[in-house]
Amino acid sequence: MDRFCGSASLMIVSDLDFTMVDHLDPDNLSLLRFNALWEAYYRQNSLLVFSSGRSPTIYKQLKNEKPLLTPDITIMSVGTEIMYGESMARDDDWEKYLNHRWNREIVTEETAKFPELTPQAETEQRPHKVSFFVEKIKALEVIGALTELLEKRGLDVKVIYSNVTALDILPKRAGKGQALAYLLKKFEANGKVPINTLVCGDSGNDAELFSIPEVYGVMVSNAQEELLQWHVENAKSNSNIIHATERCASGIIQAIGSFRLGPNVSPRDIKDFQKCRAEIFGPSHEVLKFYLFYERWRRAEVEKSIEYMKSLKLVLFPLGTFVHPSGVEQPVDHCIEAMTRLYGDKQGKQYQIWLDQVSSAQVGSDTWLVKFYKWELSGEERHCCLTRVLLSSKSEVPDGFTWMHMHQTWLDGSAPKELTTWLF
Ligand SMILES: [Mg+2]
Repeated sequence: MDRFCGSASLMIVSDLDFTMVDHLDPDNLSLLRFNALWEAYYRQNSLLVFSSGRSPTIYKQLKNEKPLLTPDITIMSVGTEIMYGESMARDDDWEKYLNHRWNREIVTEETAKFPELTPQAETEQRPHKVSFFVEKIKALEVIGALTELLEKRGLDVKVIYSNVTALDILPKRAGKGQALAYLLKKFEANGKVPINTLVCGDSGNDAELFSIPEVYGVMVSNAQEELLQWHVENAKSNSNIIHATERCASGIIQAIGSFRLGPNVSPRDIKDFQKCRAEIFGPSHEVLKFYLFYERWRRAEVEKSIEYMKSLKLVLFPLGTFVHPSGVEQPVDHCIEAMTRLYGDKQGKQYQIWLDQVSSAQVGSDTWLVKFYKWELSGEERHCCLTRVLLSSKSEVPDGFTWMHMHQTWLDGSAPKELTTWLF
């Protein structure tokens, strides 16, 4: 949360399943579009918050399956657990606050009286969340009876029904909306309320996010009936909430544009940077642009033209040295030769690159040190390198930079077992 001084220019609070992540899209195209947009223009001065019904265990599973960025804040288990940063440091004050009129044993005792309720996996049973599956036709009746029973036993609970199947029992003070309200209050106390906040969701447990005052909201095009119904009944006149026409992460990008919250053209939407320049360029945009070109080169999605090779020679400083993650130093002309050879070697294959946590610092009047995690997915294999690049703006490339040096280190456990065609 203290990555930068002052207020975040935008805070995105997004659900994961079927909002940030489209499980019907095996190529994750909308997520990769969002990732490139976020890292190019927002990472440096904005906050990314994931708010999911998942427990930390199954959130980590999703992270291993999908190209998810590292958020600044992770709200897990339907707003009952708040964690900060890459290390996911827990907010213990939040969990203490949730103890008010909550008793897990009483909840399990009372719910056992309902044969209609099927417990969810053990990993999803959390200190402040007890979770079941229930059929839609029985849900309303169960919710009513259960709430009454638990109230009689002195508890103050909230029962949330999502995705036409999941039923969660939480302390009344918990939930995605309450967790966001708590965060906003914390920012206010530090004089750091984000300038704009955009909440994004698709199902019942996201409804609370949309009732927080002064936030923009997007219900993605594929939103569930239960959320759309909630919207009709509770927030129809609120012009700060839209129902996107695009699915999942593409719906989030659409909302950024509709509410004019900042740049909304993902670098992935620009097919040729030589013909169509970005509105804003900087060190973050530069590294995104380079790796997009590299991905397209390997996939033969750009032409193998002399023009491109010429501009590559202008971008990479001829006396520069690139330290491969294996530790071997490579002179720049070797890298360019290798890249020429690799043209199209991933054509028609699954091959995707995304960058995470791009940060840059100006270290001289015209030099920047850029640091990021570079991920490469090739078929079934995923590898990642912590990458540091020294960029100079004294460039012969218009609106561009010269890459002076690069140093890569395998992320723990991410090094390939055999030799690969990892070049940069
Ligand atoms: Mg969802």
